[in-house]
Amino acid sequence: MTALIIDGKAIAAALRAKVAAQVDRLSQNHGLLPGLATVLVGDNPASQVYVGNKSKMTAGAGMRSFDHRLPASASEADLLSLIDRLNRDPAVHGILVQLPLPSHMDAHNVIEAIDPAKDVDGFHPMNAGRLATGLPALVPCTPLGCVLLAKSVHSVLAGREAVVVGRSNIVGKPLAQLLIAESATVTVAHSKTRDLSAVCRRADLLFAAVGRRELVRGDWIKSGATVIDVGINRVESGNKTRIVGDVAFDEARTVAGALTPVPGGVGPMTIACLLVNTLRAACAIAGLPSLET
Ligand code: NAD
Repeated sequence: MTALIIDGKAIAAALRAKVAAQVDRLSQNHGLLPGLATVLVGDNPASQVYVGNKSKMTAGAGMRSFDHRLPASASEADLLSLIDRLNRDPAVHGILVQLPLPSHMDAHNVIEAIDPAKDVDGFHPMNAGRLATGLPALVPCTPLGCVLLAKSVHSVLAGREAVVVGRSNIVGKPLAQLLIAESATVTVAHSKTRDLSAVCRRADLLFAAVGRRELVRGDWIKSGATVIDVGINRVESGNKTRIVGDVAFDEARTVAGALTPVPGGVGPMTIACLLVNTLRAACAIAGLPSLET
């Protein structure tokens, strides 16, 4: 078998175009221009690239982008005061504080300071709780992107056996909640799971969000399964850096029915879903109906 390679780039481009069309309509019909504020503390090179891409894509979808940079030496109080200002700014509908933060800051405090209505990362406990209890919520972008990619292969996930490897607040846990909401049968595996390969082999839908290069081997995959690889692992070879996923791609493609590449799978969907969330936040704050994905 040769797996269908899920084209995350193309699916994300189509989603961004859908957002851009809605942004255009919103500004024509209601004079409302969604705005996303990004906050970067310090000069982590990977974070600089992520924030730069997010700003570029936000502007590309016709939204306003406000970029805020604080030095690594800034205090948590400085960051909280900036968040307070953004919470009260009517031109800002979404606030994204790029993680990780410098070690002298408490990410929980910072996330809890963001107005849940503007929490486009979906990390605020209010949004996590709303997602878990089936209420409308701003949902974390990467898991949202993963579900959209799985649904590009199977329009209905109900009844399918889903295995999520990884239980972080950013990916694994919200992904499990979204899959439960889709009526999949969900198992969450993690670093203490026994016989991980056997658990993975049960999956019709296998999601790897671990951060371990090529952890998931070809013989961990059920024939015909859909595999969504969230992992971003940097591999140095000579003076070049390559990005590799959590799934051994060349092995997986001979067994899986469909598979996301790394790069070009989940990554582009994460940013497209951030735009979706910013649009949704702007609509909700204005009391207008929101985009369906
Ligand atoms: P994390 O470190 O917070 O969580 C990793 C999870 O993997 C933990 O729950 C841990 O229990 C589990 N784990 C660790 N070792 C394991 C093992 N040997 N077997 C089974 N489970 C194991 O990471 P995260 O923030 O959830 O990110 C996971 C990966 O996804 C990373 O590579 C990250 O870079 C990537 N990521 C990608 C995107 C994207 O847009 N593509 C977004 C977020 C994260």
